[in-house]
Amino acid sequence: MTETHFDIDTLLAQAGNHDNHDQFHAISTPIYLASNFRHRDLEDVENFDPKKQYSYSRLATPTRNVLQKTLAELEGGAQAFALSSGMAAIQLAFSLFKTGDEIVTSDDLYGGSFRYFDYLTDHYGIKFRQWNGQDYDQLAKLVTEDTKGVWLETPSNPTMKIIDIDRVAEITHQANQKALVCVDNTFLTPVYQRPLAAGADIVVHSATKYLSGHNDMLAGVVVAKTNEVADALAFNFNTTGAVLDPFDSWLLLRSLKTLSVRMQRHTANAQYVAKQLEKLPQVQKVLYPGKGGMISFYVQNRDQVDQLFKRLKIISFAESLGGVESLLTIPSLQTHHDMPEADRLKLGITDELLRLSVGLENPNDLAADLAQGLGN
Ligand SMILES: *Cc1c(COP(=O)(O)O)cnc(C)c1O
Repeated sequence: MTETHFDIDTLLAQAGNHDNHDQFHAISTPIYLASNFRHRDLEDVENFDPKKQYSYSRLATPTRNVLQKTLAELEGGAQAFALSSGMAAIQLAFSLFKTGDEIVTSDDLYGGSFRYFDYLTDHYGIKFRQWNGQDYDQLAKLVTEDTKGVWLETPSNPTMKIIDIDRVAEITHQANQKALVCVDNTFLTPVYQRPLAAGADIVVHSATKYLSGHNDMLAGVVVAKTNEVADALAFNFNTTGAVLDPFDSWLLLRSLKTLSVRMQRHTANAQYVAKQLEKLPQVQKVLYPGKGGMISFYVQNRDQVDQLFKRLKIISFAESLGGVESLLTIPSLQTHHDMPEADRLKLGITDELLRLSVGLENPNDLAADLAQGLGN
């Protein structure tokens, strides 16, 4: 399917179908468990076309190629790359920058991204400037002609602030046409948010989360809007090699087929659970951006947190998000533990803040589980 005018529901359901890799025309894309491919003769090697042929699987392999083509279509980009984890995807995106480059980031990001940015500063001298994700006049002052990239997550993690990607892209590109606006689209997925259409240059995903959606694999994705950026990424992808293997490529392709249906149910469930949480006397505040399956909420004290984790019968006390099973985490001790305490508290990441990934269970059962867990 190369026609991009089809609705995203159709693209997802048809992922990998009508692909001509397989001589038997299987509806489900086959898994090619091959690390290498035979050449016919010397001429075959001399005229090798990496866009059409295969040689060695780090460079390209059929199952991953079908997946990458699908991902590029979903995000509306020129090319996509499937990697072994979300962090590997973030690392690939940052391979476009070098020592001395200035990057502006929003302030409320996945904890692992902060950890990596500190590493990049210490080891490679990349300079990071932080933006609060809300004040666009402040952003206009932060980005200059020296800004090489802007990195953001929206909704933010874990405090669910919404960033206007169009405005960020416009302000950034006005300051420097060549600056790369990068969006981590893990929380909303292309079903709800297409950053490239809003003016961003690069999209990344932890496909460990909603794209795969079953709490059973790790994967990452980078999508580039232009072929120019994609070619630089392709070189680094092949050179550093954190590629997704054929089996996980197939699993992710299979998972994408139900992404739209899953996202709709995650949203319906989360809307209901957010409303029910607001009615509980122990809940101080609920943060829910209206779409997707992620809710953060504050309880009154640490005893309630402890009690809740011990009493839950359906929802698991576990890191990660985006799967069919509902999960509850405490960001201050888990995902954001490596962030300095003062920075954490400034963002509102207290020990009373909990982050819920609402799964696909019955929403009444989920709301009841939280209510009884908090002692109601
Ligand atoms: C989990 C996550 C990552 C990191 O992805 P891994 O697959 O765990 O390496 C990056 N960004 C966001 C928003 C995440 O939730």
